[in-house]
Amino acid sequence: MSYFTYKNKQLHCESVPLARIAKQVGTPCYIYSYGALIEHYQAYDQAFAELDHLICFAMKSNSNLAILRAVAQQGGGADIVTGGELFRCHTARVPTDRIVFSGVGKADDEIAYALELGILMFNVESAEELAAIDRVAKRMKKVAPVSLRVNPDIDPKTHPYISTGLKKSKFGIPIKDAMKLYTTSRYKNIRFVGISCHIGSQITQLGPFEQTAERLASLVTRLRKQGVTIENIDIGGGLGITYDKEKPPHQTAYARVIKKHLGPLQTRIVMEPGRSIAGNAGVFVSKVLYNKGQGAKKFVVIDGAMNDLARPALYGSYHEIRTVRQTTARKSKVDVVGPICESGDFLAQNRALPAVKAGDLLAVMSAGAYGFTMASNYNSRPRVAEVLVHGRQYDIIRERESFKDLPRGEHVPKFLVSGRRPK
Ligand SMILES: *Cc1c(COP(=O)(O)O)cnc(C)c1O
Repeated sequence: MSYFTYKNKQLHCESVPLARIAKQVGTPCYIYSYGALIEHYQAYDQAFAELDHLICFAMKSNSNLAILRAVAQQGGGADIVTGGELFRCHTARVPTDRIVFSGVGKADDEIAYALELGILMFNVESAEELAAIDRVAKRMKKVAPVSLRVNPDIDPKTHPYISTGLKKSKFGIPIKDAMKLYTTSRYKNIRFVGISCHIGSQITQLGPFEQTAERLASLVTRLRKQGVTIENIDIGGGLGITYDKEKPPHQTAYARVIKKHLGPLQTRIVMEPGRSIAGNAGVFVSKVLYNKGQGAKKFVVIDGAMNDLARPALYGSYHEIRTVRQTTARKSKVDVVGPICESGDFLAQNRALPAVKAGDLLAVMSAGAYGFTMASNYNSRPRVAEVLVHGRQYDIIRERESFKDLPRGEHVPKFLVSGRRPK
């Protein structure tokens, strides 16, 4: 079901016209559908119903407290990669025993924070990290629950920046080395509780997931023979989504493959979907400022930019763009660009778009994941507001930053204030 549809020629999120929200909160802004978010979460929950499972929402895709709370209320947890994300989880009251900590570069203070709160497990990415966790846990007189993140050397057939399961990537531990670490480590403050894996993002075929599951299954079987306890198998991030014409498999097909290979091992299945839960639950709404012709080239200049939504500039990604007011105006090819002083500042290139004029609203679709979380203050642009729609109601779940927020924490040293030049 689509939660973004035209009614009376106006694009709505659930039962609320986007234009109404834009008028109240201003543009640009992110608008999320609660219904879509929950539907996407439940697609996993239902598909994996027959297996003991835990859905740890990859909050790097969307870390707003309201989104985290919504997921937690459904029984889900979080996949975190920093202490800051853990703080957000704690603030949003995500149960700590539903939190997994991923990432190649966990610092001592982040490890200590996670041990203090008591998370489900650390997904450890190197021998040195394992030693560091043991050291911190020992100091705190705790035992750290750990799974090793293995690198199965599988090509996920996605964008190179978001491929993470190949030998050449910085992620995970090669299977052979992981086997050795599991069976020969003698750390007193580490307890192995599982194994984990994440081969990449925006994967639209089942093949790579199936190959990964096969490798994990054989590894877990071998580990058990050596007496290593594996209670959790973390299968990593979720399915790809439709931005343009991609046809990703459904959650039920994914679950079938996982069940076939990992079901017989009788562990809990942990998964870390981000994009497939939040991505198509959100849009980025922006206002047209100018039309600009440059020879044969036409530009639509909008008030949203690469600092608000970085994916097109960062990965050359495609996002569908719709006019908020439905129109039959003739289409022509344009570049949709923002006000930032970079040629990479575009949201679409060579896109057939109906004629628009200053003040018209555009909705950049599929922007709920890796949208706001990647936003920056580049060009001293305040970060935009976020809104959550639920049926006929909507709430501002993050206020637009003000100019005053921009230099927060900055100080001009005394020698510059005095008016004299430094010697
Ligand atoms: C990014 C990431 C995810 C989320 O991937 P999606 O494609 O958004 O589902 C999950 N786990 C890890 C370790 C990640 O780095």
